[in-house]
Amino acid sequence: MMTMETRWQNAIKRAVEIDGEEAARYLGEGRFLIVSARDAGAYEVRLDVVDATPVTTCTCKSGEHGFPCWHQATARLIGGYADAPQSEPDDAAAVAAFLSNPMSIFESA
Ligand SMILES: [Zn+2]
Repeated sequence: MMTMETRWQNAIKRAVEIDGEEAARYLGEGRFLIVSARDAGAYEVRLDVVDATPVTTCTCKSGEHGFPCWHQATARLIGGYADAPQSEPDDAAAVAAFLSNPMSIFESA
């Protein structure tokens, strides 16, 4: 079973992939309107902060069941309560390995 944290990670990844911020309009007082051509709908997200922890609700089906969705993830990203995922760590590791020993490319295998 997917944990809530995994669900949030997936929702945030999706929000970044489909550029959720483009679909969002801030209505004020912690409310966002997310208009989605992809979902053929418009949803209202509420962002509250309780004890420095973001609490969001959404009027879409997932949100009504208390599950994360990319609409809520978008509001959290805009509010600065979520971080966009880092780029693939594999590349960073490969670059770091090369930089630590650049001459290795001249060594014969
Ligand atoms: Zn939603």
